[in-house]
Amino acid sequence: DWHVFVCGNARAGSRRHEVDERPIMLDLHGVTKAFGKRQDPIIAVDEVDLQIHEGEYFSIVGPSGCGKTTLLRLIAGLDVPRPGTIHIDQQDVTRAPAQKRPVNMVFQNYALFPHMTVYDNIAFALTIKNYSADQIEKEVNGALQLFHLQELADRKPKQLSGGEQQRVALARALVNEPKVLLLDEPLAALDFKLRREIQQELRTLHRNLQITFVHVTHDQEEALALSDRVAVMNHGRIEQVDTPNRLYEYPASPFVASFIGDCNIFDSKFLFREGPDVVVQTDIGRVRSHFPHSDAERADQNRIKIAIRPEKIIIEIGQTQRDNTFYGTIREVNYQGATTHLAVSHNDRIVRVSMLNSMAALPQLRIGDQINFFFPPENLLMMESE
Ligand code: ADP
Ligand code: MG
Repeated sequence: DWHVFVCGNARAGSRRHEVDERPIMLDLHGVTKAFGKRQDPIIAVDEVDLQIHEGEYFSIVGPSGCGKTTLLRLIAGLDVPRPGTIHIDQQDVTRAPAQKRPVNMVFQNYALFPHMTVYDNIAFALTIKNYSADQIEKEVNGALQLFHLQELADRKPKQLSGGEQQRVALARALVNEPKVLLLDEPLAALDFKLRREIQQELRTLHRNLQITFVHVTHDQEEALALSDRVAVMNHGRIEQVDTPNRLYEYPASPFVASFIGDCNIFDSKFLFREGPDVVVQTDIGRVRSHFPHSDAERADQNRIKIAIRPEKIIIEIGQTQRDNTFYGTIREVNYQGATTHLAVSHNDRIVRVSMLNSMAALPQLRIGDQINFFFPPENLLMMESE
């Protein structure tokens, strides 16, 4: 229910939607799933509409408990939506059992069969589908090779590292060539470095296989890095679906703005308009934002929020008189090698500012220092409730 107004063009990428010409592989309409008692249900997935293209790398992000796993289980056929419909590759599969769907899922905890070898784990899906022994051997050997698991074929899962188990889970899910691969937080259990490595492998794998990937994660950086498009979920609903770039530059709601990256958000009261400029009152003072396009027409409302990302704020030392410059005290300095993150207070309000250390032509900043921070009018976002 939020409109976003974007000022100026100080952004990478374009506001325009680029059209994906690929056919729709996965089509969800009004998909809903409730748990619990009828009089007091938990709505885990709430009227989700979603179209995912053939060959797309699609991610779903959102906080824990927002319904991501439930949504994947509905697509996989491990649960049935009520109401709602699911089409995969033009077929209505809403009531089709899991094994009849051209879909495989990699579960959060890998869910390998502990008593079976790596080879038998990968062969399992083919065995229950009555593949011939020759076929099974050919397919499994191919998968072992693809995932560099030949040496480990005779081991049991508990004799494998986390990264190796992850590869077996992927091999098992891909061996019978599904049209859609569902991944439920596949990298959550891995340490940072291994996660980066397997992210790279997932990307290469996706490029080579050209299967549709639907990847659930609570890690927004992972989603941005891997995906063609990302859906942001909150309380069972999808708040926005967009490319990583557009999601970051044009978030559709305060929730998306603060879930994808970091964002300073200010409750604001509309004061007046001057041509393309809109001036609002916030709890840090008057803020002027610049809207060169017609979205500004809709900004004359009282319930609006002004938002700015930490890296789009400019730190200045010394006197300045221009609009949108505020005087503040540094409360925290968090040095992170490539970047430094500051918490600056002004009128009891903390503003988060970040800068690239390679760009910062500033003296060493310390807690207690007084600085000016500037909101370039074209870097502001404005969000308005309907
Ligand atoms: P996520 O994967 O985003 O963390 P889930 O899809 O697992 O979220 O859960 C969404 C909501 O549905 C949560 O409130 C969760 O407690 C509830 N839920 C999930 N599965 C069940 C179930 N089998 N029975 C009851 N409630 C469930
Ligand atoms: Mg989950």
